[in-house]
Amino acid sequence: MSGAPDPDPSPPLVEGRSCGACGVCCLVLTVREPDLQKLPGHRCPHSREHDGCAVYATRPRICRGYYCGWRTMKWVRPTLRPDISHVLVNPVYGLPQPDMAPRDAVGFILLSPAALDAEGLAESVAAAVAADVPTFITTPGPPGFAGPEIQLNELLAMAVWTRDKAALLRALRRYHDECQSGPFVPSEIEGALQDLRDTARLAGQDLPPDGDRRGRCDLHPGVIPQEPAPAKS
Ligand code: SF4
Ligand code: SF4
Repeated sequence: MSGAPDPDPSPPLVEGRSCGACGVCCLVLTVREPDLQKLPGHRCPHSREHDGCAVYATRPRICRGYYCGWRTMKWVRPTLRPDISHVLVNPVYGLPQPDMAPRDAVGFILLSPAALDAEGLAESVAAAVAADVPTFITTPGPPGFAGPEIQLNELLAMAVWTRDKAALLRALRRYHDECQSGPFVPSEIEGALQDLRDTARLAGQDLPPDGDRRGRCDLHPGVIPQEPAPAKS
């Protein structure tokens, strides 16, 4: 979700890091907003290849508030800019916990096998686990689908405790491969669509019929491209 510097960024950003030509979040993440809906793995139609957001000044609310972990978390190593490292560190705020207050968490989305060789991956994962932040690994599914998530805290506790980087990387490779074998779950935009339908109904507007909306949006035809997004280099 790159572009010119935001005059009032939220949350606070790490000094010296900028999105540049990245735009990975505009491809990988789901957007469920009244004015924009897109599924994971489909590039946002406003995303200009290597040139930020075409509607930066009026981008949806969720885009205004979103910055990846590389932009917001100092302990994420500087080498992990997502388009270069193939690692998208995704902050999750207020993760529901059984019988506990919601906690912030972090997901390491490994965009390709090359992510496993990214300098600073092991150190960044270890920092999150050592700080007892709920830490997850996942890989993207096919366009429109979410991959499984594996929580790493207990699984990596010994490797982090003994500072065994080789063991930690071996484990990450294993969990990466597990994530890649699925199962993949179709991402839903139904909640956002229902909100739009309620709004339209109140406004007395006609609504499009229900149907299979995977990969498209009835209310914003063309917003979600049908073809897979171009592969990242
Ligand atoms: S993934 Fe991070 S660095 Fe890349 S465009 Fe989004 S916020 Fe910027
Ligand atoms: S509207 Fe702009 S910031 Fe939001 S996903 Fe699309 S390209 Fe990215």
